[in-house]
Amino acid sequence: MNSSPTQPLLQQAADRAQRYLRDLPERHVAPLPSALEALKGFRRALPDSPTAPEAVLAELDEIGSPATVASGGPRYFGFVVGGSLPVTTAANWLAAAWDQNAAMKVLSPVAACLEEVTMGWLIELFGLPAGCGAGFVSGASQANFTALAAARHSILARQGWDVEARGLYGAPELKVVVSDEIHATVLKALSLLGLGRERLFRVPVDGQGRLRMDALPLLDDSTLVCVQAGNVNTGSSDLFAEICARAKPAGAWVHVDGAFGLWAAASPAKRRVVDGVVEADSWAVDAHKWLNTPYDGAIAFCRDPESMRAAMSLNAAYLMVSDEREPCHYVPELSRRARGVEIWAALRSLGRLGVAELIERSCRHATRLAEGLRSAGFTVLNEVALNQVLVSFGDDEATRRVIAGIQEEGTLWCGGTVWQGHTAMRISVSSWATSDADVERCIAAIVAIARALKKRDFKCGR
Ligand SMILES: *Cc1c(COP(=O)(O)O)cnc(C)c1O
Repeated sequence: MNSSPTQPLLQQAADRAQRYLRDLPERHVAPLPSALEALKGFRRALPDSPTAPEAVLAELDEIGSPATVASGGPRYFGFVVGGSLPVTTAANWLAAAWDQNAAMKVLSPVAACLEEVTMGWLIELFGLPAGCGAGFVSGASQANFTALAAARHSILARQGWDVEARGLYGAPELKVVVSDEIHATVLKALSLLGLGRERLFRVPVDGQGRLRMDALPLLDDSTLVCVQAGNVNTGSSDLFAEICARAKPAGAWVHVDGAFGLWAAASPAKRRVVDGVVEADSWAVDAHKWLNTPYDGAIAFCRDPESMRAAMSLNAAYLMVSDEREPCHYVPELSRRARGVEIWAALRSLGRLGVAELIERSCRHATRLAEGLRSAGFTVLNEVALNQVLVSFGDDEATRRVIAGIQEEGTLWCGGTVWQGHTAMRISVSSWATSDADVERCIAAIVAIARALKKRDFKCGR
């Protein structure tokens, strides 16, 4: 093979990346204070003259790599994150070399084709209605926004109002119903769409964070109902079958934020957790969380693709859009990266069985973590239905100190939350890389840290 001028540089990048990934499993999960201190090295004045690419790459690796969070490693349980399957990292590198603009077929036939294939596979995997429309976006935030824009279009169009043309000035009112535990990104999407963060009917929830059916208001054909698969704290899902049985005859639109929880639908063992989810009208799901693709990637699905197109399509003489599916007609962006590539690679590599196994393995790890901590005397605050565990180590102050202790010790990383009035530690198991041995090592580390803190408190007379 003839080498191109970029070859040595890309080889160096690959070598550095491999070294990073090799060390990832055993490094301190949070960056060390010394690595954060060294970030000062980046804060130089804008250089006047060029620097050799090799030197730029070296600086990026030497200062940058140690200051990352090892969230792609096996013992990161913060937020809901997930790592990157090796095949998706590799596909991402190749796609970076392609540098495709995924806006239109004429700009990237391969990006458009892989989106179509991947969309079909996902519809089948989740059991969504055939003929659904889909848009490939950066995250569930944007997927919620995209799907809710389609919902807004559809509900108002039924009332003879063209919201894309006329805006919301003088439009008929929409009634927006949300679960009291709906994710903050849905509230943000509603505010961006002019529907308001506060002008909502908030339905109270039960002890697991599920919308209470007895408190669901009367729904009609001007109602938009926003519910979720996978509560970020408890992992619980709303009762979709019952909600849709009320919404459908009334003509209301049901949107499901399934950022991570919709993946339960891809597992025969876990599917019952999201029973009835396919009855909804639109769905948001992340690929960068539980499917373990690199940042960023997510998908918005809509039962009625025409509503998505009406909300998102654009045209101009120079754009040369075809009559076939054009990626840009289903998303807010025009130019964007070909993020369908890694999603395709993950599904092509895992297959239906591999996806189910990934989901079930995370759930099994979560159950084992809960069991291990419970038998050590700590309190698990949620029913572990999926991959989320909420743990209390005593009073709020004690729990906060254990969380800080764990983050500082570095074997693993967990964040905190307040769940129905109690401070809790969140454990979210979303990575392909977490093994049984990692789980046992984490239980031992958490128990040791919590006991050492308790002993110290006892000595200090706290
Ligand atoms: C993570 C998450 C989101 C936001 O997703 P992004 O990918 O960060 O935009 C929305 N809803 C739920 C339930 C989530 O877990």
